Amino acid sequence: MDQRFDATGRFTEGAQYIAGTLRPGTSGRTQAVTDPATGREVLRYELAGAADVDAAVAAAQAAFPGWAGATPGARSDALHRFAAVLADQAADLARAESLQCGKPLKLTTEFDVPGTVDNTVFFAGAARHLEGKSAAEYSGDHTSYVRREPIGVIGSIAPWNYPLQMAAWKILPAVAAGNTIVLKPAELTPLTSLMFARAATEAGLPDGVINIVSGAGPEAGEHLVGHPAVAMTSFTGSTAVGKRVAAVATGTVKRLHLELGGKAPFVVFDDADLTAAVHGAVAAALINTGQDCTAATRAYVQRPLYDAFVAQVAELMATVRLGDPFDPATDLGPLVSHAQRDRVAGFVDRARSYATVVTGGQAPRGELADGAYYQPTLITGAPQDSEIVQAEIFGPVLVVLPFDSDDEGLALANDTPYGLAASAWTRDVYRAGRATRELKSGCVWINDHIPIISEMPHGGAKASGYGKDMSAYSFDEYTQVKHVMYDNTAVPRKDWHRTVFGDR
Ligand code: NAD
Repeated sequence: MDQRFDATGRFTEGAQYIAGTLRPGTSGRTQAVTDPATGREVLRYELAGAADVDAAVAAAQAAFPGWAGATPGARSDALHRFAAVLADQAADLARAESLQCGKPLKLTTEFDVPGTVDNTVFFAGAARHLEGKSAAEYSGDHTSYVRREPIGVIGSIAPWNYPLQMAAWKILPAVAAGNTIVLKPAELTPLTSLMFARAATEAGLPDGVINIVSGAGPEAGEHLVGHPAVAMTSFTGSTAVGKRVAAVATGTVKRLHLELGGKAPFVVFDDADLTAAVHGAVAAALINTGQDCTAATRAYVQRPLYDAFVAQVAELMATVRLGDPFDPATDLGPLVSHAQRDRVAGFVDRARSYATVVTGGQAPRGELADGAYYQPTLITGAPQDSEIVQAEIFGPVLVVLPFDSDDEGLALANDTPYGLAASAWTRDVYRAGRATRELKSGCVWINDHIPIISEMPHGGAKASGYGKDMSAYSFDEYTQVKHVMYDNTAVPRKDWHRTVFGDR
């Protein structure tokens, strides 16, 4: 029993949520959920196998006609009730998320959980506002209109960095539009996806509308992606796994939505508010211990501000308090696992041969030694084409590089395979305008970096994938547009038939 959240007590029936019931997986293999702050196992569950995925897909198929046929108003009412249940369970959800991820409780309480509730409220409203173009007699002889229809059973795969929010981002637009869904959370972090699905049942969503299969990526995940009864795959995770998912999905010609990795640039022009940029960089590099696909990872600072920026970032990073996620004084928790911590340490250790580690670069010793902690780390002097500048690290590591001209700064910012998010820091409206046009990414912030809102889309460009989460734009992923054309002439022999037989 964990003092902070009793994961074992909560999931005694198993970690698969199929047709409104928790049950164990049947793969014959088990998986641990570990508290990364201590290294202690907090739950061991039976992983889903192919048979569990098949059962979840069958449940989603069975629920589809009723849910797709419900009025938008009825779906909206159900989602409003769902939001209310989630709000009631906010404290539990925050504790479970902090336990399995190592996120500071202040982050889960003020960001992950309220963001999820707000998303649910947003999609409850948006369910009644699907958009389309006007019906009209475009040909002169017909009336044309579009129907925006649900696609069917959606198979979704989520990462471990924001398990609750990722479940919400995948599930809410899909079900608001009338689809049913099977979501596979990451192996390490199934708790809050299961709680989310259960809350939906408590709110009165029909069994089978939301199903969770907690299984391994290459087994349960690939089986879900390749499943012939799944009409669409929506994947959030690394670019490497996204490529594999795309290859498997091709076999059944599925619709695909890929939210992949990022390596966000943070461009500081010489007229920027230096204090704002320094605070923004430290917050945006360290949020969620750097395990954020939009985290600031590469700060490009125009030469006149470069030295002061590096010194002040190092100073501010030194004030960040590492500690137990459940201690209200903690700013920075551990990484999600010891394996992820070691992966981050590997990037930094390799960089020592070609760059300078200004601050951090170690796992803390002492009372935090058992956890998957890593110090906030600042690196300078790395070449643009080096691994630490080009690869997604997914840890509390910020690399700072100087630039001279605006042209150079923007070119360096665009010079990685990724294109998820970027920010520019300036008080010059023309520089800001140029940066928003020229930075190749799904989102550009001006004088801030990280905030997201339910009403606006999130999604990438280049190797960061395609498609949008959140906002009404996500309905473009989770609906198909059908053109309906009515003949208005009632003439048996139409004028256009002459192109096939006869003359005018
Ligand atoms: P990952 O790619 O290792 O795993 C993501 C999911 O894919 C997990 O559920 C995993 O079990 C599953 N998976 C693994 N192999 C699979 C396979 N062969 N077939 C099907 N599924 C498989 O990513 P992660 O380490 O869990 O998360 C971190 C990554 O997620 C980072 O690259 C980060 O940038 C990305 N991410 C992107 C966004 C975004 O919106 N673009 C948001 C959050 C995280």
